[in-house]
Amino acid sequence: MPGEQKIDVARCDFLKLMAGGGIAASAPLLTRPVRATDNATYDVVIVGAGMAGLYAAKTLLQRGYRVRVLEASARHGGRIYSRTLGNTRIEMGAEEHYLARDNPIYDAVVSEYGQDVYTRAYVGEQLITVDGNKTCWEETGSCEQDADIRNFWKYQSFYGNRGKNKDFSVTMADVVAERYGVGPDHRAYHLYEHAIANSIYGASLNRIGAASLAQQDWNWTLSSDIRVVAPANLGYSDILDSIWWQGVLPHVDYERPVESVDFSGEHVVVTDATGARTRTHKVIVTASIGVLQSETIAFNPALPAATVEAYRGIGMGRGMKVALRFPQPFWESRMAYLITDGPVSSAWAPSHYKTGTDDHILMCYPMGGDAQALTDSARKAGGGAAGDAKIVRALLTDLDRIFDGKASPAIVDAHVQDWTADPYVRGSYSFPRLETYRSAALNLRRQLGKPVADRVFFAGEGSNPSNPACVPGALQEGLRAADTVHRLLGGVSNPPTRT
Ligand SMILES: Cc1cc2nc3c(=O)[nH]c(=O)nc-3n(C[C@H](O)[C@H](O)[C@H](O)COP(=O)(O)OP(=O)(O)OC[C@H]3O[C@@H](n4cnc5c(N)ncnc54)[C@H](O)[C@@H]3O)c2cc1C
Repeated sequence: MPGEQKIDVARCDFLKLMAGGGIAASAPLLTRPVRATDNATYDVVIVGAGMAGLYAAKTLLQRGYRVRVLEASARHGGRIYSRTLGNTRIEMGAEEHYLARDNPIYDAVVSEYGQDVYTRAYVGEQLITVDGNKTCWEETGSCEQDADIRNFWKYQSFYGNRGKNKDFSVTMADVVAERYGVGPDHRAYHLYEHAIANSIYGASLNRIGAASLAQQDWNWTLSSDIRVVAPANLGYSDILDSIWWQGVLPHVDYERPVESVDFSGEHVVVTDATGARTRTHKVIVTASIGVLQSETIAFNPALPAATVEAYRGIGMGRGMKVALRFPQPFWESRMAYLITDGPVSSAWAPSHYKTGTDDHILMCYPMGGDAQALTDSARKAGGGAAGDAKIVRALLTDLDRIFDGKASPAIVDAHVQDWTADPYVRGSYSFPRLETYRSAALNLRRQLGKPVADRVFFAGEGSNPSNPACVPGALQEGLRAADTVHRLLGGVSNPPTRT
């Protein structure tokens, strides 16, 4: 995302807390008993019912194609996931909506719900933590007297600048060390790490290519002006279900994790974990970069080396969102955004912008290396509710340090959504590594989007060379893949094929 402003784009089960190479050699396709659920041959099978998959399906269904969407999990939406905490709908995945430019959601939402459904987020000031538990307010406090914080602000208009970040062999960590003398042990390192690398890019400074990222930001075409959904009883998922997905959902099959795609014969055969084999002319794979990198979907014949190089060379960030509910706020109402030097990393209060709620909710946003450490500790605790409780305790401890011990005793309940631990996402969102971009035209995202044998198509936020790591970017890719399939199958004015 473009990083021009001081607070730029941030992303920011009920728990009883105090209780405590492209082709896998052993392609399961050939060994699994066949359970043909469906004798139809689809025009298009879509792997994944996230934003790219659903939008591709919507587009193709409108053009009259026979489409089946196979979704691994028990729900649709992928990395958009609204849940209820207290009486408030909150976002455990994507939360921010971009204004209309290149984003079809904005106009569609406003025409259905009216302008007032949207409001601004992060109204107020940043509360910055340094040196353990010392805090300062961004505008009205003493932050400006701190030279390290001033440098951190300067870097916010530097890192997205293509003219200033020309060396494709250095990471953001290298730049921060060289320009500001800030390394991992420096008192201000967490500002760069948590507020930029983690919260915007889902990754760590030492994994992001400085010039690669500046090139990616330069390609960005979406507005950097964002809005959030205001009514307490409405979430991102609810809105999209209502405006777009009703007509698509009858074509989605849930709990059907695709294990292999065989495009060696007359039809493409897609086999999922239930043993079912679905025949199709074309397949659009919308699984995340994390899932592609895990190589849990086998392809026969093997994918071209360029496709494999592409998904391996794009970074996949780590991350989670943890929503904590309290009976009363112990933070000041002017706190738009909190940056900590502990595992909370960054946080905001969605209950500040939700209208019609009495809930007080802090959304913690550990991403990158901090998130991975929490994921690992939760796994060690056995995962599930015990793992979630471990994560929540670590975050409360961090908040107690900053807010005089007020968080732990007051916690009511929480939701933990660890995207890295989700086997069908395996991370937060994609980011540019050193080699992801070489120039505007030469980049691995574009390479991933190239059709394979005109039968297999990859589409998702990770293959978008201009607007990755966001919802509109995933929609754009779903549309691109659908248009390509349409051109190949039916042509602009021809009806779909029926063979
Ligand atoms: C914490 C977080 C915060 C974010 N904040 C924002 C934000 O504020 N604004 C914004 O615009 N974007 C945000 N994003 C990014 C945005 O959510 C994603 O870019 C977008 O939703 C990705 O859509 P997708 O279709 O590419 O992938 P996904 O959402 O990952 O969809 C892929 C689907 O494929 C399924 N799948 C995976 N493997 C298989 C398989 N083998 N077989 C069948 N199905 C499979 C998955 O279950 C999933 O449903 C955020 C993401 C995260 C994680």
